[in-house]
Amino acid sequence: AKERGKNNFQFFTYKDEDLIARKEKIEHALYSALSNNEFELYYQPKIALSSGKAYGVEALLRWRHPELGMIPPAEFIPIAESAGAMNTICEWVIQEACAQIKAWQASGLNVNVAVNVSSIQFDQDDFAANIAGALKRSRLSPEHLGIEITESVMCHLERTKKTLQELKNLGVHVAIDDFGTGYSSLHLLSQLPIDAVKIDKSFIQDILTDPNKASLVKTMISMAKDLNFELIAEGIEHDHQVKFLLDNGCHFGQGYLFSPPLPANDAANFLHRQMIN
Ligand code: C2E
Ligand code: CA
Ligand code: CA
Ligand code: CA
Repeated sequence: AKERGKNNFQFFTYKDEDLIARKEKIEHALYSALSNNEFELYYQPKIALSSGKAYGVEALLRWRHPELGMIPPAEFIPIAESAGAMNTICEWVIQEACAQIKAWQASGLNVNVAVNVSSIQFDQDDFAANIAGALKRSRLSPEHLGIEITESVMCHLERTKKTLQELKNLGVHVAIDDFGTGYSSLHLLSQLPIDAVKIDKSFIQDILTDPNKASLVKTMISMAKDLNFELIAEGIEHDHQVKFLLDNGCHFGQGYLFSPPLPANDAANFLHRQMIN
């Protein structure tokens, strides 16, 4: 790949000609994706592991192209970033999430929705102001919205601190995503006003087979506790992972074991059945 976004998407590299053609097609199709209503948010429940009940959801972007079919975010987000289209997409995601929170509230569901924000967006000077504006326009109180950012924001520590402080003042919940895959330490994170840390699924997947990862997860859990971070495990697919996490003091998680990301209606059904009150 000639260019790479700031996120750690290294799965898709375009080498042969077919793939280069596909990349160009995707880049071109991006320009009309929003106006053609091709984007949709799916929602994956966040679960309290001891009870199996949901306490919130994470919004995950889906793009259904009429010809190319479902294009995964790990493929199109890096393309959107290098094409300069991520700003508009990010605004749409935030606005759509706010509208969904509002609609769910009207139907009696009070749920926190966390959106993923790429570091390019987070690095904008007016990021917190934009979030405040979106909340205001939707007449939503900030505690209903969450933000997930990756460790890559640590590259701009001072700006990151300032933006995080603004978000904290606003009252928006902030989580560090994919923790463990980058180069930052929990100690570094302890200098930031954040609420939660999400352990990347690559650690959770290998918890029983890779003793190094198991002990890393244990360390993350105990440090997060000392630092008073809420800790969420990603990618839980098996009961034994839940047992390991609970035995070691991690009480929150997400994964296919509980539910995949769901269209809004299905997510609402799940929440009506399984929500913590
Ligand atoms: P992420 O934020 O780390 O999201 C978790 C990914 O793991 C999601 O993939 C989710 O569908 C998947 N997942 C959930 N449970 C399991 C499980 O039990 N096993 C496995 N193997 N996977 C599971 P998805 O939806 O394809 O998203 C990939 C990445 O794209 C996300 O990683 C996030 O970094 C990015 N992304 C998604 N939506 C947005 C968005 O609206 N804005 C931005 N900037 N990035 C987004
Ligand atoms: Ca996330
Ligand atoms: Ca992850
Ligand atoms: Ca990620």
